[in-house]
Amino acid sequence: MAKLTGQCLCRSVICEVADQVVYSMKHHCSDCRRATGSAIKPFAGIAIEKLRLINGQDSLMKNGGDRAHAVHCARCGTLPYSLVG
Ligand SMILES: [Zn+2]
Ligand SMILES: [Zn+2]
Repeated sequence: MAKLTGQCLCRSVICEVADQVVYSMKHHCSDCRRATGSAIKPFAGIAIEKLRLINGQDSLMKNGGDRAHAVHCARCGTLPYSLVG
């Protein structure tokens, strides 16, 4: 099965996810703009169970509650993934 890999700017957080995109969107609400520092946040929706953190478990900063949150690298601020409730 094809996998997508990603890493943050400082390379502390490395994650891998199955290439099983269910939907893709560009969101431009005020929360997405604040979280990214950009006019839009483009993202692909993939079931969270398909995500595997390869490195950086101790470098994560979770912003939000258990059901929905954004996960940033605590060192460089990159937003590698978020959980949509
Ligand atoms: Zn980082
Ligand atoms: Zn948004």
